[in-house]
Amino acid sequence: MKAFDFVIIGGGSAGCVLADKLSASGEHSVCLLEAGKADKNWLIHLPIGIIGLMQSKSLNWHFNSHAEKTLNNREIFTPRGKTLGGSSSINAMLYVRGQKQDYDHWQSLGNNGWSFDEVLPYFKALEHQERGADEFHGINGALNVADSVSKPAVNADFIKSAIAAGYPENHDFNGASQEGIGYYQVTQKDGLRHSAAKAFLTPSLHRKNLTVITQTQVEKVLISDGIATGVVYKHRGKIQQLSANKEVILSAGAINSPQILMLSGIGPKAELAKHNIKLVHALEGVGKNLQDHVDVLNVAQHNRTEVLAYRPKAMWWSAKEALKFITKRAGLLTTVIAESGGFIKSDPTLTEPDLQLHFVPAAMDDHGRNHKLLCTYGIALHVCLLRPKSRGTVTLNSNNIHQHPRIELNMLDHQDDIDTMIKGVKIAKKILSTPPLSTTHVKTIFPDENCNSDQEIHQFLKEKCNTIYHPVGTCKMGQDELSVVDEQLKVRGVKQLRVIDASIMPTLISGNTNAPTMMIAAKAADMILAEHALSKK
Ligand SMILES: Cc1cc2nc3c(=O)[nH]c(=O)nc-3n(C[C@H](O)[C@H](O)[C@H](O)COP(=O)(O)OP(=O)(O)OC[C@H]3O[C@@H](n4cnc5c(N)ncnc54)[C@H](O)[C@@H]3O)c2cc1C
Repeated sequence: MKAFDFVIIGGGSAGCVLADKLSASGEHSVCLLEAGKADKNWLIHLPIGIIGLMQSKSLNWHFNSHAEKTLNNREIFTPRGKTLGGSSSINAMLYVRGQKQDYDHWQSLGNNGWSFDEVLPYFKALEHQERGADEFHGINGALNVADSVSKPAVNADFIKSAIAAGYPENHDFNGASQEGIGYYQVTQKDGLRHSAAKAFLTPSLHRKNLTVITQTQVEKVLISDGIATGVVYKHRGKIQQLSANKEVILSAGAINSPQILMLSGIGPKAELAKHNIKLVHALEGVGKNLQDHVDVLNVAQHNRTEVLAYRPKAMWWSAKEALKFITKRAGLLTTVIAESGGFIKSDPTLTEPDLQLHFVPAAMDDHGRNHKLLCTYGIALHVCLLRPKSRGTVTLNSNNIHQHPRIELNMLDHQDDIDTMIKGVKIAKKILSTPPLSTTHVKTIFPDENCNSDQEIHQFLKEKCNTIYHPVGTCKMGQDELSVVDEQLKVRGVKQLRVIDASIMPTLISGNTNAPTMMIAAKAADMILAEHALSKK
């Protein structure tokens, strides 16, 4: 059996950072196993390719949740990246860290070392901020953070309308204060996507001590006498094994990491028994505590032609945009779809924003899959709840890794989440009906103009809410009986096994989750390297 010092399962946002950091010194041998293909498809690199990636069945796991009782029994589409770079290769590229309070809250739960002051240096060290360095930003990291080059003019109108509706302007959501309206910064370099793979893995591939194996789905972690010793995986139809001299690291993301733990015999006793899986170590919290940003779209037809839409003379338009991209690395081919937005308070007495807005220059519905609606020139304003109180689960449908796990998002289960989202829809309506945006308004598409009472808006939310793609928390870090990992991200009760990805977040951060996941991986890599340097002495 082949052996490596570290075996990393999953080459996503966290896995790519780990592969880079753990192999950098040349001292440790590292093997990264990724279920998806290498990130060669042009849809990944050209930002507008996100539209195609949402539909892709080979680069996207294409999960669907179970029929959600709280959302009119709808199955909620839950895309996840399946390629090197993971979800950072199919995401919307918005660079957001969350609020200082998110990390101070993690610390207050007993997770020492995770306060904002302790994680900020990692955010800064990972980043190459094109605007330059300051108290909150670094310029020496591998991840390029840029101002978006594609800004259809309707974005400026949205920003003006939101400010006229009473919300402050903000030029840096990752600076001193998150609150306000403005343009997002994006993880792009020269107009191309800068995924975790592009930033961290590709530049490290030449290292002799780093092995990357793609199209390899890990089936389980091997555990012997309470120690993780290696993994079982399938490659080119053949079941194979690898052993790990130092550690096995699970970075398969918030949906797959709990699935792999359970298939390895680590998880809730009853769940394992139900699927005839031999119990190795009981951990009730595996797959519990699923949190995601519940989101709803407010869509209107507008008298604008610069928006994204299926249009007459599409060939001419595409050729013009292609030329802009080739000559200036600009134009709509570099779009991240949601260039502007912001963080606002549903109630002015709050100390921090509890809602996020993403403004889209397109009549968007159903994750861009409503092609009929895309024939209309329009706009869409997303409203999402930053710190939901509802909790869902990831459990198993069977003991077969090739069958998707059962996802129950359970969004809008908590009355406080419903109340805040109702306020959010009212705010969105107000912004959309304020000039200058209101001056190009032709027709409201949804919610209907007569949908105004709390009860009517709640009905609308049940019909239309979706995820905005930030599942976390299913292998949470903590000290209580539902925690799966400790603050060193070591799996409780099993040696030489860590989980390092979005699933360890005890609570969802107030914003998009890619940069926080990479921060988690960079900080964990330092912990691992420090521990193994000590054990050598
Ligand atoms: C459509 C979409 C849009 C988003 N937009 C944004 C955004 O604009 N900004 C932002 O900050 N965040 C965004 N996110 C969220 C962000 O990208 C994720 O939170 C982050 O990438 C999660 O990182 P991760 O390492 O936990 O998991 P992932 O990056 O998903 O990586 C997990 C990896 O593990 C692999 N894997 C799974 N199971 C196995 C197995 N059994 N064996 C081997 N490999 C396996 C997967 O194929 C994948 O490559 C978006 C996500 C999506 C899906």
